[in-house]
Amino acid sequence: MRVRFAPSPTGALHIGGVRTALYNYLLAKKHGGTFILRIEDTDQKRYVPGAEDYIKSALAWCGISPDEGPDQGGDFGPYRQSERKDMYAQYAFQLVESGNAYYAFDSPDEIEAMRQAQQAAGNQGARYGVDTRMGMKNSLTFSAEETKAWLDEGKPYTIRLRIPEDETITVNDVIRNTVSFESKELDDKVIFKSDGMPTYHLANVVDDHFMQISHVIRGEEWLSSTGHHVYLYRFLGWEDTMPQFAHLPLILAPEGKGKLSKRHGKKFGFPVFPLSWEAEKEEDSFTGFKDAGYLPEALVNFLAFLGWNPGTEQEIFSLVELVEAFSLDRINKGGARFDIVKAKWYNQQYILQMTDEELAEAYLSMAKNAGKELNADFALKYVRMFKERIEFLPDLLTAGSFLADDEVSEYDKKSVRKKWKGDAEAVLNGYLDVLAQEDNFEPVHLESFTKEYIEQNGLSFGALFPGLRLGLSGSLKGPSIFDMMEILGKEKSIARLKNAPSKFDAIKEEANG
Ligand code: GLU
Repeated sequence: MRVRFAPSPTGALHIGGVRTALYNYLLAKKHGGTFILRIEDTDQKRYVPGAEDYIKSALAWCGISPDEGPDQGGDFGPYRQSERKDMYAQYAFQLVESGNAYYAFDSPDEIEAMRQAQQAAGNQGARYGVDTRMGMKNSLTFSAEETKAWLDEGKPYTIRLRIPEDETITVNDVIRNTVSFESKELDDKVIFKSDGMPTYHLANVVDDHFMQISHVIRGEEWLSSTGHHVYLYRFLGWEDTMPQFAHLPLILAPEGKGKLSKRHGKKFGFPVFPLSWEAEKEEDSFTGFKDAGYLPEALVNFLAFLGWNPGTEQEIFSLVELVEAFSLDRINKGGARFDIVKAKWYNQQYILQMTDEELAEAYLSMAKNAGKELNADFALKYVRMFKERIEFLPDLLTAGSFLADDEVSEYDKKSVRKKWKGDAEAVLNGYLDVLAQEDNFEPVHLESFTKEYIEQNGLSFGALFPGLRLGLSGSLKGPSIFDMMEILGKEKSIARLKNAPSKFDAIKEEANG
């Protein structure tokens, strides 16, 4: 089994492309086959610098590593079509020679005029093909001398595939079974241009043949071109070794009709690309899954399920487990709706799977990048406290910033006004006096010690706890009081609690004034 992922470097790689790469990779690994990366850069006009690097980095981040490719090399290279340029021309000319392709000399304006005339005559699907080619400037309508003269003069030309009249062409697709096209509905695709470059169709077929690709697994948008490709294999005499085709379902927008596009990402505020992309124009730039805080394992797991299912209840699969479980026959035919809530859920699951040590390490390095040096012991306790409350790793920075910061920077004023009254201050101060004598700050111990204090002094929880909570964290919500005291340590806890009454009073005065 030899499969390939064949992106065109025309911009950042959409997650639909990452899914295509992933499915190719999974299938190759499952069957001990070879996963190839081929860069399809024959369209010079759409070439975007940096796109190839982006594609490679995105795949690397997801752990999808090619066995053969521009960087890996291999016996079937080169793996960049621009470096294979010289291979393609001979097949284009061979097809002209055998009568399966022809030179076309029409200018873009002439082609447009043909389209408009066709549409005016009520032919909506106007195309350069079986119905129209005999009215155009090409080597089918020119005499041999005329064609030669035009070529000798160096007139710009393209080579078009000559689609047979009135035939049904059948594509066998692993996912969709048999898909048939009427030949007259296929256009005579341009396969070669006078700049010496093949178009996608010719280059793709020639390369798949010579790279001995056994399975072509790609997005559904290529299904309509596959009829053309089958003709190319046939006309080049390669049909008996033609790869098997598998066209993957579309990834649909979160709501409504149509496929997921970067527009939806902007509109709904979620990433649709694996990595961030900096373009010249702001509107063309975007944040990727990585910078949005997703773990690559979570994105991969999420993408695997966009169009495939294992047939069991299991939802969490590592890449290795996906390799084991994956098969083409469990790919859905219907489009897969993109659901960012599910992506977040996956991310949370993968965060919970990380060890506390790994989380602490990630937290320490994020804090460091934000200019904050924290100690390892604090980080470990901190991540234990917050790991269940976050969706993304960077949420760690904000989830408990009131504990990581030197002081409480913000108090919930409404709660302060409501709870800081009566003898609250006296109760807090009384408790602080005994707390100052206490050295064991283990949460379990602090809890029993505090409960005992409350009972012995005839107090209620309601008289002490709100002041404690607000003083330690600024709010009535959050982790347990005793866990907060432990992580802050004795000195900081007491300092915060001593400092609190004056802050609370100021808040109340502000309200009264
Ligand atoms: N270069 C095409 C693309 O950008 C490849 C399609 C295929 O896999 O045949 O998607």
